[in-house]
Amino acid sequence: MEGLMQDWPLRVTTIIDHAARAHPEQEIVTRTVEGPIHRYTYKDLHSRSKKAAKALLELGVKKGDRIATLAWNTYRHMETWYGIMGIGAICHTLNPRLFTDQLIYIINHAEDDYIITDLTFISILEEIADDIACVKGFIVLTDLEHMPETSLNNVMCYEELIEAQNDEFEWLEFDENTACGLCYTSGTTGNPKGVLYSHRSNVIHAIASNSADGMGLKATDTVLPVVPMFHANAWGLVFSAPSVGAKIVMPGMKLDGESIYELLENEKVTSTAAVPTVWLMLLDYMEQTDLKLSTLENVVIGGAACPEIIIEKFEKNYGVKVIHAWGMTEMSPLGTLNLAKSGMDEWSYERQMKHKLKQGRAVYTVEMKIADDDGNELPCDGETSGHLMVRGPAVARVYFKNEGGDILDKDGWFDTDDVATLDPQGFMQITDRSKDVIKSGGEWISSIELENIAMSHWAVAEAAVIGVSHPKWTERPLLIVVPKDGKTLTKDDVLNFMTDKIAKWCLPDDVVFVDELPHTATGKVQKLLLREQFKDYQLPTVQAAE
Ligand code: ADP
Repeated sequence: MEGLMQDWPLRVTTIIDHAARAHPEQEIVTRTVEGPIHRYTYKDLHSRSKKAAKALLELGVKKGDRIATLAWNTYRHMETWYGIMGIGAICHTLNPRLFTDQLIYIINHAEDDYIITDLTFISILEEIADDIACVKGFIVLTDLEHMPETSLNNVMCYEELIEAQNDEFEWLEFDENTACGLCYTSGTTGNPKGVLYSHRSNVIHAIASNSADGMGLKATDTVLPVVPMFHANAWGLVFSAPSVGAKIVMPGMKLDGESIYELLENEKVTSTAAVPTVWLMLLDYMEQTDLKLSTLENVVIGGAACPEIIIEKFEKNYGVKVIHAWGMTEMSPLGTLNLAKSGMDEWSYERQMKHKLKQGRAVYTVEMKIADDDGNELPCDGETSGHLMVRGPAVARVYFKNEGGDILDKDGWFDTDDVATLDPQGFMQITDRSKDVIKSGGEWISSIELENIAMSHWAVAEAAVIGVSHPKWTERPLLIVVPKDGKTLTKDDVLNFMTDKIAKWCLPDDVVFVDELPHTATGKVQKLLLREQFKDYQLPTVQAAE
């Protein structure tokens, strides 16, 4: 027997319809790419998104067409998302930090019809224009006054397109399973693969990730999504914040410590989210200038393991709660958030800190388990580590155009490629990406754990650990360290510091110092490159073993 409730398709436009009706006066503040701070309301966002939708229809955009955006977090970028999705087209977010070869590959693979771009990326597009023949035209997110001189063909001014429209428009009707967003994974191995989100998956993700025990935003919050909209949908904030009418502050292109600090304070931000490197820059800036934070309550940190030093500084020095989170593009992206359960607040500082390094527990709609190489479920004892597998309505079923073939096992589980432990209370901890784990004499050494310890040394700015081949142990850890500006460090300084913090057999066999580490387009250390660079590295312990 069918239930007798209304059929109300879960389309993402219902989110800004709601925001405009229930929170018309709520503000969206942007540091524009042109420079000044811009302010308007959810009512304005709603109206201009409809104008954007009409402008795209006039250009001939149809349901299912892919429209790419190459843009920072701004109000205009947000309008284009809703405009594109509201007519059943698919918004393909391009990451400007990708190499041009990868950009060319994904634009052609997606068959993007138009590219909506910020002024800052015109030169990238000019460079690749000859190789992206599928693109019929470019829309520049600016006004007439700021339109650039460019060699690109068929270039339009966004504000001019919007001004030519009124907002009398009903969003188009289609099934909630219709595709609305496309985001490619960085493709550390092989070509990037496209994750194709649906309206339904994005709405479910917005509701689930924003539960009180998730990101927990509310109408009295002001959220600053530093995580870019081109990095796994700004972790869903462009959908979840309007769903509760939170004030949004968009940082545009300036993500340095000083600019982020200015927005946090001037706009009275209560909640923010980004990868660890952004927070290292902010903490560094605040330490140098001796500034404090007056309104920020919590900071969501994910995308890479959050080092202890960041949690400690935010909580001890600034009174800001850190919520460590984990997810991936294929999961829309949130999987887990580390929020305490009853009684945990009373644990000793050391115990709480150790616990906060875990990536957290699954939000509702995410099923999670760990399995051995044959897919057998492993115990949730907080000790045994295995392949982290996930299922849920906002998890990818297959990549765009079936790239890579079947990605689920026979029971519908997706292998995240992460290696993790699960404890009896449901908290998950990543020990490594499966390709980064160091296999030493039949045991696994967690590179994340070693990096975390090394980074808590006062003179270490960044650290990475890779496995280097060893005749006796197969692999042994090599620690690569970037010292803080102006600080000198020796191998013994680092190793002595680490000695009593980890089992002796896990200690790195050697330490090398470099000026900087290579990063991926989403801010992770590029271990593949490091492994390549150090593949012939002779560990001092090799001679000893021979
Ligand atoms: P890309 O591989 O394109 O950068 P994602 O941003 O989707 O794409 O990366 C997801 C991966 O990032 C996860 O599978 C995991 O390896 C890593 N990751 C994300 N959050 C964390 C975290 N809190 N701790 C450790 N690793 C993380």
